[in-house]
Amino acid sequence: SHIFKSGWTGVNECTFIAVKPDGVQRKLVGEIVRRFERRGFKLVGLKLVRVSEDLLREHYWDLRTKTFFSGLITYMSSGPIVAMVWQGLDVVKTARKMLGETNPADSLPGTIRGDFCVEVGRNVIHGSDSVESAQKEISLWFRQNELQCWDPSSSRWVYN
Ligand code: UDP
Ligand code: MG
Repeated sequence: SHIFKSGWTGVNECTFIAVKPDGVQRKLVGEIVRRFERRGFKLVGLKLVRVSEDLLREHYWDLRTKTFFSGLITYMSSGPIVAMVWQGLDVVKTARKMLGETNPADSLPGTIRGDFCVEVGRNVIHGSDSVESAQKEISLWFRQNELQCWDPSSSRWVYN
């Protein structure tokens, strides 16, 4: 239960990141992992999965009334997804900045969406929008024994 408990903030904050089916097809997995590693975040979970539409509907429950909802579920179930959990100081907010805006057209160059995609319906990556969403999403996509608690040797060079 340790990682799902609320109150995970500071350097222990976690976020859920997913390379969407288009990101996997376009061979962006390495590039995306590289950006999170180089920023200084810690990888605590990673898997290549095809998930059920039920899981996807739960993941995007807040958007269920949107006109794009069914297209979104079709898109997200169109191929394998790389699901990840990253940990570190302010990782939820910082990851959202690294992703860019929901619409790639509004995303600055240097962000993942600003560098690698052009359309909102094929925006290559997901990132949790709050610590609370991250906790929900991590427990939806990962079992506890799929998450690794480890101590990177670089910690004292990333945090003072
Ligand atoms: N989406 C879409 N059309 C829209 C808005 C969103 O197809 O007008 C898709 C897009 O893939 C987006 C996902 O639905 O990433 C979830 O939407 P949300 O508003 O949560 O954006 P995000 O948190 O992914 O930036
Ligand atoms: Mg969202």
